[in-house]
Formats: sequence, structure tokens, C-alpha cells
Amino acid sequence: MSSQQYNPPTQSSAQDAVTIDASARTVHYKCGDCDQDVPLKRGEPIRCRNCGHRVLYKQRTNR
Ligand SMILES: [Zn+2]
Repeated sequence: MSSQQYNPPTQSSAQDAVTIDASARTVHYKCGDCDQDVPLKRGEPIRCRNCGHRVLYKQRTNR
């Protein structure tokens, strides 16, 4: 079992860390006006990039 949790050393794990970090900070919202998917990073203003609407709904990642 422990062999399945083994992570390959430095090179690829560093890339993984960047990818995970970026996706973890990006939250996907759905525009309340045009239903466009709006990915926002932490600290970015809540605003639809498609139509400029400011009411966004947080999307559920669970199915
Ligand atoms: Zn919109």
C-alpha cells in the first residue's frame, strides 16, 4: 500500500505542487446573468468577465 503513495522525486513533484496550488486558489463561479463559468483566483474581484455582472454563484464541484 505504501508503494502506491510513493511520489516520484523532485522534478515532477515540483510541477505537481504548482498545478495543485494554482487550481486550489482558483474558484469557479457561475454568472447569475449569463450563466458563464467564471474562474476567479483568490483576491480577484467578483465579476463576470463575459458580461460584467457582479452577482456570481459558487459552483459545486461535487457530482
Ligand atoms: Zn455574465
